[in-house]
Amino acid sequence: MRGLPCPSRDEARAILASAIEPYIHGGVQKGYAATGAELDSVGAMFDAYDVGLGAPAELMKGAGLSPQLRDAIYNGYEFTQAGRKLASLRASLMAGIELCPICGIAPPRELDHHLPRSAYHPLAVYPRNLVPLCHDCNQSKSTSVADDPAQHFFHPYLEGIPAVSFLRATISIHNGGLVADFDIDPNAEVEAIVRTRLAFVLERLKLNERYAREINIYLTSQVTAVRMSFDWGGAAGVRQYLLAQAGIESGRFHLNHWQPVLLRSLAAHDGFCGGDFAVLLPA
Ligand SMILES: [Zn+2]
Repeated sequence: MRGLPCPSRDEARAILASAIEPYIHGGVQKGYAATGAELDSVGAMFDAYDVGLGAPAELMKGAGLSPQLRDAIYNGYEFTQAGRKLASLRASLMAGIELCPICGIAPPRELDHHLPRSAYHPLAVYPRNLVPLCHDCNQSKSTSVADDPAQHFFHPYLEGIPAVSFLRATISIHNGGLVADFDIDPNAEVEAIVRTRLAFVLERLKLNERYAREINIYLTSQVTAVRMSFDWGGAAGVRQYLLAQAGIESGRFHLNHWQPVLLRSLAAHDGFCGGDFAVLLPA
């Protein structure tokens, strides 16, 4: 889990206006001719969203707006699909984001409405409510927001995800197989509510199960380096290699990306470094 650079909101009003612009489709009037005052009302919801760091609030459901305006904004999101008039919004939000900010497994392919579009129509095309996620994370994230703040997803743009090591992997080796159990380090220097929320995300998105599917493939890429390190330097050599590689991957991805977390845990595992890797990672 990591943060992402916060997108500008300079164009938010222009995007909103474009999304709801009236047009005729199949002889039917679509969109909505909003007044300046109505656009201002939606803009005030954007302000509230930023101030609240994307936390849910009734105001942003837009109960005071005309239902036609709410529906037009909701439907206007479809214009962000490829080839349509707001496709550049989608492209700019996706640009430069190599991996899903939550799982770090796959590239982001979808935009998640951080506050769900189904309940928060006015935020349907607000750039800061649109977060690039991979398909699996987006599908697993519920389309409703829990009342309990301990079950709120982090906002990758607006909330600082702590720049301290908080993801941990516990390694166990048996029957020739390696199991890495990821959890949130109880000793991590983060507030209790942050720890609880991180653990909630880990659980809700089934990250352990998804990482388990990646680990063997990833470790295959490390076989030669681990074996050569052992031949040259024994267990200490393996440990040194794993920590060096973890440092590189932390820099390339981030501190709490599952790969460097796994590598650091393997470096701390005496059995793995001392030769068990040969069973787990056959040449
Ligand atoms: Zn993901």
